[in-house]
Amino acid sequence: MFNLPNWAFEFHGHKCPFMPIGYRMGSLALEKLGAPRSKNHEMHVFSEMGIGHPQGCMQDGIMSATGATFGKGMIERLNYGKIAAIFWYPGKGTVRIALKNEFSDRLSTHEFFKYRKQGIEPSDIPEKVLDDVIKVVLDATNEELFNVKMLPDFNYEPVKSSFNKARCEVCGEYVFERYLRHKDNRVVCIPCSERTREETIVHLPLT
Ligand SMILES: [Zn+2]
Ligand SMILES: [Zn+2]
Repeated sequence: MFNLPNWAFEFHGHKCPFMPIGYRMGSLALEKLGAPRSKNHEMHVFSEMGIGHPQGCMQDGIMSATGATFGKGMIERLNYGKIAAIFWYPGKGTVRIALKNEFSDRLSTHEFFKYRKQGIEPSDIPEKVLDDVIKVVLDATNEELFNVKMLPDFNYEPVKSSFNKARCEVCGEYVFERYLRHKDNRVVCIPCSERTREETIVHLPLT
């Protein structure tokens, strides 16, 4: 049985099968790339998840396992609506890992999804149902779970980090340089660049 640390569930907030799937996906990516968990800004993850489907929990598992977190700017979402992710590690290569349809089909027959389809949130599902569905994920082999493909031609150029900032000339707030815009000969933030000038709005009196 795969050993998943309890803190990952605490961080995620509830027990469910998709966070563990992501955790295993991230662990396998590190293994395939021969890379350690990222302390700083090493691994970049391109999650193929979208929104509006409940498997997004997977991404918390990926972040927990790899250290490629949203806060460090190391994970982004491609919005393809697939339970898959691409893992790029500088100097070590790239691997894409996708959940197998067969495992997805097997998992979807579990009682857990009867509750979920009635709109019941994971934390309100009986503990033994949760523990059992998680066991299905942790007991599976990597071969049962995933399709794994090395991507030798994958290229990625991370955005250069900068501390440079300036004050928006409209709202006065600091803005980091790649998000500054020019408008009417002023340096402004994005919301201020999109704002319509108040004096151009004409309110006609009601008659
Ligand atoms: Zn979850
Ligand atoms: Zn502004």
